[in-house]
Amino acid sequence: MKSYCGRFAPSPTGPLHFGSLVAAVGSYLDARSHDGEWLVRIEDLDRPRVVRGAADEILRSLQAFGMCPDRSIVYQSTRTDAYHAALHQLRRSQRVYACACTRSEIADSGMTGIQGFVYPATCREGLPAGRAARAWRVNTQGAVVRFEDAIQGPLQHDVEKQIGDFILYRADSIYAYQLAVCVDDAEQGITHVVRGADLLDSTPRQIYLQQLLNLPTPRYAHLPVATNAQGAKLSKQTLAKPVDSARADELLVSALRFLGQDPPAKLQKSPLDEIWRWALENWTVARVPRRRAQHSQP
Ligand code: GLU
Repeated sequence: MKSYCGRFAPSPTGPLHFGSLVAAVGSYLDARSHDGEWLVRIEDLDRPRVVRGAADEILRSLQAFGMCPDRSIVYQSTRTDAYHAALHQLRRSQRVYACACTRSEIADSGMTGIQGFVYPATCREGLPAGRAARAWRVNTQGAVVRFEDAIQGPLQHDVEKQIGDFILYRADSIYAYQLAVCVDDAEQGITHVVRGADLLDSTPRQIYLQQLLNLPTPRYAHLPVATNAQGAKLSKQTLAKPVDSARADELLVSALRFLGQDPPAKLQKSPLDEIWRWALENWTVARVPRRRAQHSQP
């Protein structure tokens, strides 16, 4: 057993773009430079958002860039039994409850937190008469979570006030990302999570669930997210271009520069394996900019 196990966990909503490449490169370099394992998990639970063929395309791109996982790929769509068992465990310990509220009812409460409306705990003490369960939520009463991110520094959330009782099983019968990620990270023995800072505000929720489920908490490092010239995160919605594997060398150097690693100019013209060699010898997490987002110019 290695003492470091990292992962890259893309959602197959489109091909790899520069932003997701940065997350793959950061997690890969951190794992390899610790002589650790590196795994890939395809987060394809949110069926309406999954794009057919995108998972294979992402895997082909990772291979073309020279990033090969150490174990076979895990697909979240094959793991619903494990998520069901975790939800059941939380039901037995009475940490979750059925909720009948619709989005508009929640919006009517007008309470906002760091990610939209805070659920006003309407169904915490039981479903109102005549209403049917739509979703399952976790009770966050008194949940204050603190952690130290290796890049972004200390973070503290009052989960109840800033987020509210969040959903673990959605009204469209899909297990929520927050639950699935905790179950999978534990099952795969992930010790270090290196990912984009767009997920920094999800981390306290995940730590809270780990505590409720008696699962270990990995170390976290959140990389700045790549944005376009308008300051929007590169994504399918903002029409980010897919990475071109024929330019893997150039794009890898750009990703290293984005991650503050200061690659020498001559590396730009080097073959891919030489770029990786330099990157592995020089990877320093302390050089990654301590920002949640930054403009990318690959
Ligand atoms: N699947 C998530 C995404 O692509 C990442 C999840 C994670 O790294 O925890 O945004």
